Amino acid sequence: MNTWLSHRDSVTEENKKFLFRLTRLNHKEVVANADEVHDEVFARIDCLACANCCKSIPPIVNQTDSRRIANFLKITEAQFQRKYLQTDEDGDTVINQSPCPFLITDNKCRIYEVRPKACREYPHTNNHEFVKNIRLHMQNTHYCPGVFHIIEKMKLIYK
Ligand code: SF4
Ligand code: SF4
Repeated sequence: MNTWLSHRDSVTEENKKFLFRLTRLNHKEVVANADEVHDEVFARIDCLACANCCKSIPPIVNQTDSRRIANFLKITEAQFQRKYLQTDEDGDTVINQSPCPFLITDNKCRIYEVRPKACREYPHTNNHEFVKNIRLHMQNTHYCPGVFHIIEKMKLIYK
C-alpha cells in the first residue's frame, strides 16, 4: 500500500482521463465493479493507522449531524456551531479546523457514534455511488490510499 505516496502525483493526469472515460461507460456495471474493488481494497487497509481524511479534509456537517453531535457533547446546538463549524468557499457547513478537533489518540474519533454522515460515507467509493462521486475521487487520490488503490484496480478492469 506504500506505493500510494510515491505514485499518487505521477498518475494524476492518467487518472483524470481514466475517470472521465468511466463516466461514458455503463454506470450500473461500473458501480458494481467499484463496490467489489472497494471491499477488496479496504479489507487490506487499516484506517486507524492512517486517518489522513480526519487530518486533512474538514467534513461537511448537516443539520442532523449538528443536533446529534451537540447532544452527545452535552452542549446546545448553537454552542456546537459557534465552536466547531464554519462555512467553506463552496457554501458548505464544515468543521472549522484541520486536523479535526475530534481526532484523538490512536487516530480514534471522539464522537465516533455520532460522527457526521460525510465521515461515515467517506471515501464515497461504494454503495453504488462511485460514478456519482467521480470528481471527488480525483481529489481524494491525494489524501486517501484507499481511493488511490481502488482506481488502480479499476484501471486493470477497464484497460
Ligand atoms: S484517508 Fe482513506 S485509508 Fe486513510 S483513514 Fe481515511 S478512509 Fe481510511
Ligand atoms: S468527526 Fe471523527 S471521523 Fe469525522 S473527521 Fe473528525 S475525527 Fe474523523
